[in-house]
Amino acid sequence: MVGKFPTSVIELSQTALRKNITFLRTYLPEGCEFCSVIKGNAYGHGIATYLPMVEKCGVKTFAVFNADEAWVAWNSARKSSHIIIMGDLEGVALEWAIENGLAMFVFNLERLKDAARIAHRMGKRARVHLELETGLNRTGLRKEELLLCKRFLDDHPDDIRIEGVCTHYAGAESIANYLRVQNQMVLFGELCGYLDEMGVSYGSKHTACSAAAIRYPATVMDMVRFGIAQYGFWPTREVRMDYVLKETDAGHDSSHDPLKRILTWKSRIMSIKDVNLGQFVGYGNSYLTTRRQRIATIPVGYFHGFTRQLSNLGHVLIQGRRCPVVGVVNMNLMQVDVTDTREAAIGDEVVILGKQRKAEISVGSFSDLTRVLNYEVLVRIPSEIPRVVVR
Ligand SMILES: *Cc1c(COP(=O)(O)O)cnc(C)c1O
Repeated sequence: MVGKFPTSVIELSQTALRKNITFLRTYLPEGCEFCSVIKGNAYGHGIATYLPMVEKCGVKTFAVFNADEAWVAWNSARKSSHIIIMGDLEGVALEWAIENGLAMFVFNLERLKDAARIAHRMGKRARVHLELETGLNRTGLRKEELLLCKRFLDDHPDDIRIEGVCTHYAGAESIANYLRVQNQMVLFGELCGYLDEMGVSYGSKHTACSAAAIRYPATVMDMVRFGIAQYGFWPTREVRMDYVLKETDAGHDSSHDPLKRILTWKSRIMSIKDVNLGQFVGYGNSYLTTRRQRIATIPVGYFHGFTRQLSNLGHVLIQGRRCPVVGVVNMNLMQVDVTDTREAAIGDEVVILGKQRKAEISVGSFSDLTRVLNYEVLVRIPSEIPRVVVR
């Protein structure tokens, strides 16, 4: 539902984004491309609002999962920007992508053939990145398939342009996968060598996501596909630790976090009431007042993406103070305790996620409490909530 009078808004900070991109560029050697991964509605930030913010920071390449996201990205992007579709794409969507010059990952022969056939009919060249299987075992071309691709490409020289070769690591954010990732790096090198031997020219090589770029410099190559880090989040606590240790070893001060959260999710107080000692609050009997308490109602519930799992667990910020959620989260509202925030009044700003004065509700605290991955907390923020750019 996209109405005109939303109960909450999401602010995106251009300053924070600029800082993140500047910091992440320090991992890129001269000439290495910054690719902004904006799948999952830009990790919940909202593609249409977020993409132009990234363009303002000088980034020209964007990666999405499917044609639906590509469509939104393409309609928000400058004509000079590039969009790469990394995953699902078929039928009329594939035709649309080729017609409009969007690039795509190719991870099986079927897609290569479909793309060539459509491109041929349109008198265009499909822009292709060959995705190589190196050990994730999800999508990707194995060595035998590369030989078949090579033969097919020789027969269709004018229909396909190979603009890149790439692969994706099976969890560069955790040291538990160290060996698997190292093996992937070696195999990627071998497969590129094989393409060289066969005389296939392939443009740029790219393998790294945020964690790989931060942790393993050898994965950086000609382009990095930065996802989570550009939004101001470390892929895992472990990656942050790795950064802090390296900075400390290099004699740098690592006490401040170079990644800044971009997103603030805000609502306001709808109503406040005093409740006497010994009363249950809201549905059922999960919360009993232990004194006379002031309870504020916020017009954001599980319908608006505030999970019920945070009933009696989550917090919001009011007047710079953390106020606990009391009772169960309802469909359209939640109740929070403002007894100790005496100044709280109807209409006050409520921060559900992000900073207010010196306090912060982090995505990490959401995910720690609900055991939902930080990536998942972000993408579950409904796309209907309006996104606005702030300084
Ligand atoms: C999501 C994704 C990325 C970005 O990963 P982050 O961990 O968010 O940096 C890069 N490459 C591919 C293929 C992806 O699917």
